[in-house]
Amino acid sequence: METRFTLQQPNVCAEASAEDCGIVVFGASGDLVQRKLIPALYGLHLRNLLPSRFYILGFARSDMTDEQFRGRMREAITAAHAEHPAAVAQEKLDAFLAMCRYVSGDYNDPRAYERLSMRCSTCDRDFDATGNRLFYLALPPDLHPVVTRRLAEADLTDEGPQGRPWARVVFEKPFGHDLASALHLDSLLGRTLAPSQIFRMDHYLGKETVQSVLMFRFANAIFEPLWNRRYIDHVQITTAESLGVEHRGGYYDNAGCLRDMFQNHMLQMLAITAMEPPASFQAESVRDERVKLMRSLRPWPCGDTGGELCNWVVRAQYEAAPGGASSLPAYRNEPDVAPDSVTETYVAAKVLIDNWRWQGVPFMLRSGKALHRKVTEIAVTFRRVPHVLFGLSSKAQMPANVLVLKIQPDEGIDLTIQAKQPGPKSCMSTMALSFKYKDIFGVTPPDAYERLLLDCMQGDRTLFWSREEVEAAWSLIDPVLSEWAAHPQRCPLHTYPAGSWGPQAADALMRSIGARWR
Ligand code: NDP
Repeated sequence: METRFTLQQPNVCAEASAEDCGIVVFGASGDLVQRKLIPALYGLHLRNLLPSRFYILGFARSDMTDEQFRGRMREAITAAHAEHPAAVAQEKLDAFLAMCRYVSGDYNDPRAYERLSMRCSTCDRDFDATGNRLFYLALPPDLHPVVTRRLAEADLTDEGPQGRPWARVVFEKPFGHDLASALHLDSLLGRTLAPSQIFRMDHYLGKETVQSVLMFRFANAIFEPLWNRRYIDHVQITTAESLGVEHRGGYYDNAGCLRDMFQNHMLQMLAITAMEPPASFQAESVRDERVKLMRSLRPWPCGDTGGELCNWVVRAQYEAAPGGASSLPAYRNEPDVAPDSVTETYVAAKVLIDNWRWQGVPFMLRSGKALHRKVTEIAVTFRRVPHVLFGLSSKAQMPANVLVLKIQPDEGIDLTIQAKQPGPKSCMSTMALSFKYKDIFGVTPPDAYERLLLDCMQGDRTLFWSREEVEAAWSLIDPVLSEWAAHPQRCPLHTYPAGSWGPQAADALMRSIGARWR
């Protein structure tokens, strides 16, 4: 049974447009730029949130004229709005494309950066922009160091007095391939850029509903007193994808689920769910609390403790579903995947947090590809009532209250409660108080990239990773990757049929805390 929430009163709303600037997009011929970045910038344009003096300068090796680049961007925007073609208003689109230009060059060629620098100056002049520049590295991560170095050598990352005009650099995840490469990149960034110039992008943090977790926790007095080991039994965080690796098999086979999802998105969702209240909603305060939380995560048992790790972290790979129940092939038969690949496409893990608030409360995390359906959510299961009335024979029969923060799809919040069913008998039902963004606000939340690009242009780093967070996350993940590589037989790679909810070993992990996956 479902009871709906209604909007009582819109309260605080702080949305400002960005500062005048130009965005230089590296890897402009690539997948991310066409599927996400350009449609997101167009989305901001439609909402009149782009600066009035603004331009986009694409940079990549592919040879293209400005006109050809605009043609590609037109196609990208049209494809992104295929379901709502009315959003592609021709006049608006033409005005947007008029701000797009392109320059080609090799990422390691100093002369390319001279050309880029001249093109930036021309754009600054033509668009009457202020010289503020945002360099967005939508490139495979092994190119991040060389581009950062070349940008600095060409003085493109120099800022003016008091940081005006500014120069900022956005790094797409993953931030390194392991702890050593992340530290290496960080030391290069430390030598070439000030911390205020660095934006480490993890688009999960820009999702409206991820941010709403913070607002839910810290703008409502009724939940925070319950948000601890006394009242919470366990927390489940799920990010499930129904698709396989699609066209990204080459990248994914090198990365795997633990690197691709846990090192970043999953740990960030855990951090915002479990962190202490920050002193303010300023970037440094929020990031400090996330770091503190990540540093409190208990390391998983690796090395000398032998097979103990399997009781904490389960890994698995999808295979074809029997009887053609799913159209996906086995992971090993996906394009660009090695036929003997041992890359995990699914991970479930038990995480404990060693601090006062969360001592002994398991956080159960799972993520995978080719699962039953696409869903991302944080489900907080409260402890059961201490004493059972109403004719139930044991406490275990009394359902617990569950608060579900739904990140996608159907973004919203559900809270289950027990209530009396009308009638002369003492019958009880579980009801869901259910709040859906779409029902209340009438719109689907804007894409995460819109929010994050706006933040970059405004210099707000609250929703970006700090160096300390990257290191803390890798410090947790790295030993597991090493353990799997050094002792593959200790923690076996399980399999699961595409279209299922994952391997049985993950269910057993959940049973070990006396619970079931939702
Ligand atoms: P692509 O593989 O599409 O690469 C982007 C561009 O980089 C290509 O168009 C190509 O441009 C250039 N490039 C690619 N490989 C090389 C190479 N080996 N040497 C030199 N240039 C190369 O990447 P994506 O757009 O998919 O991703 C970019 C970044 O964003 C990555 O860090 C990725 O992890 C991250 N990301 C991507 C997501 C996605 O959905 N695609 C989601 C989240 C993050 P050209 O040849 O013209 O120079």
